[in-house]
Amino acid sequence: MFEVVDQGPDHYTTKFVYEWASSPEYSEINKPRYDHHRVNINTDDRRAFYESRLNGDVLRHHRNSVGAFLRLEFELQNIQSMLTIPIMVDGTWWGILGFDDCDAPRDYSDSMVAALEIAATLITNGILRDRLEWEVNHDHLTGLHNRRALIQRIERSLLTSPDLGSLIIIDLDDFKHINDTLGHQAGDAALKAVANLLSSALPKGATLSRFGGEEFALWLPADGNAACALAENMREKLEHLDIHWQSSDMAIRASFGVAQMRPCPHPEPTQVLFDKVFARADRALFEAKTGGRNQVVYTD
Ligand code: GH3
Ligand code: MG
Ligand code: MG
Repeated sequence: MFEVVDQGPDHYTTKFVYEWASSPEYSEINKPRYDHHRVNINTDDRRAFYESRLNGDVLRHHRNSVGAFLRLEFELQNIQSMLTIPIMVDGTWWGILGFDDCDAPRDYSDSMVAALEIAATLITNGILRDRLEWEVNHDHLTGLHNRRALIQRIERSLLTSPDLGSLIIIDLDDFKHINDTLGHQAGDAALKAVANLLSSALPKGATLSRFGGEEFALWLPADGNAACALAENMREKLEHLDIHWQSSDMAIRASFGVAQMRPCPHPEPTQVLFDKVFARADRALFEAKTGGRNQVVYTD
């Protein structure tokens, strides 16, 4: 089975993601050639082949009757016959599932085709489920976790360690000014650049999310001192971040509110624990804003 990882008008690039081989000598999956295999669509037979895959056609090939470019592929892999079916997701060609027979040319029966079609449908459903799960837990613009995913992770972490962890809320300063002066697209580009920079500075075990508009939140399985040091490091890095938008440069500053979990004498639901640490981090953020912005404030 391979996935199409890149497509253009004159090529497509495939990556073998799964293979079962009856004998190790037929295995192709770890060969560099099939890691990012570019197929150029530069002849009529290649274009016809490509279009039949885009259409979702079932293709049965014999070594003696394949076109020139496929024959080369058959020789390289010692294939005698091949049955393939495109895996379609949301009407788009995702990849290929199929059988290669390297022992003898085979006439693939309709029941084999039907079995392959069922398998392709199951794979399509799996891909759709993964995509849905991603959408539910991530922010589209930045690719970061969203508020829902962060809260879920924090609550899970508090179940096992109710008094360990710190929350950092990061709110960009005067962000509205960027939208007002350079436009919303510039603002979006700035949000992506900030997300990339913050992601690159994350210690192990930390979870960063886009919590809302121009607000990010970060959970760290560490105490308030470590969280403040990380926040200060991020604040400085943001100060030096150069974002170019068309012929303009954008300067980004941010305010940080930090709070750590406190030992709790009585067991409390994780949602209550989260609400309390969030309220303290939010108060710290408010102090950072009213205290002049571009700073880190910690509340105990
Ligand atoms: P402060 O320093 O007090 O935080 O000022 P601010 O301008 O950052 O805060 P304010 O809450 O007044 O404005 C936030 C702005 O963030 C307004 C909104 O248009 C912008 N924003 C929120 N989400 C997005 C987004 O997805 N894309 C873009 N481009 N802008 C966004
Ligand atoms: Mg702001
Ligand atoms: Mg805000």
